[in-house]
Amino acid sequence: MAIRMGVEEYVGYLTAAGEEIAGQKDYITALDSKTGDGDHWVNMNMGFQKIVAKADDLKKQDLPGLLKQVGMITMSGVGGSSGVLYGSAYIAASRALDGQTEIDDQRLLTLLEAQTKAIMERGKVEPGWKTMLDSLYQGTEAYRAALAAGKDSQQAVEALMEGARQGRDATRDMEAVKGRASYQTNKGVGDLDPGAVTMCMQVETLGRYILAHCMN
Ligand code: ADP
Ligand code: MG
Repeated sequence: MAIRMGVEEYVGYLTAAGEEIAGQKDYITALDSKTGDGDHWVNMNMGFQKIVAKADDLKKQDLPGLLKQVGMITMSGVGGSSGVLYGSAYIAASRALDGQTEIDDQRLLTLLEAQTKAIMERGKVEPGWKTMLDSLYQGTEAYRAALAAGKDSQQAVEALMEGARQGRDATRDMEAVKGRASYQTNKGVGDLDPGAVTMCMQVETLGRYILAHCMN
């Protein structure tokens, strides 16, 4: 069994992630009202609504074209730090998968690494600083380690999801270095970072979608 995820499936994943985010309004807004300015869910939900509205169009693109388009929609259409950071992440993923038609086990790592690096560079952020990066970084590291250890595709995807959950949960005790939580006197300690929570939801949705629809 190996991962085979084409444009059709990737758009399917984005649609599923949009539904997941849409259903978490109260939880995410409450979290971001504690450590941020309360708009994180609105920003993320708006981004996914704009992506899903163009789903038919997106399915006609090739894989790098799809990723680039998602990056452009996010970059221009989503407010807050999230729009710029996710926009950069998708545009970097598009470049990293130049000329490819399908995501397989190795290319999923290429995509995740490109997104991680883009967020680190654009956000000038490191792991452990209580941001969306923490879920993606730990998920990507766990996925990389699983592949390197010769785990099968299913185990590697499960490691990806578990790593993202651990990264998300670890933000609870972290002191924010970047973003609005860093302006608080307690640096947000005691609360999960909302960006790490929505990032984890996306990584988990990606993992679940791959396990259900993209294993051949
Ligand atoms: P804003 O911070 O502009 O209000 P959002 O509310 O959309 O933007 O997103 C807030 C989330 O963005 C935070 O919870 C954090 O995870 C993430 N974030 C903020 N600044 C950075 C940064 N410099 N690098 C990485 N992630 C960041
Ligand atoms: Mg905000």
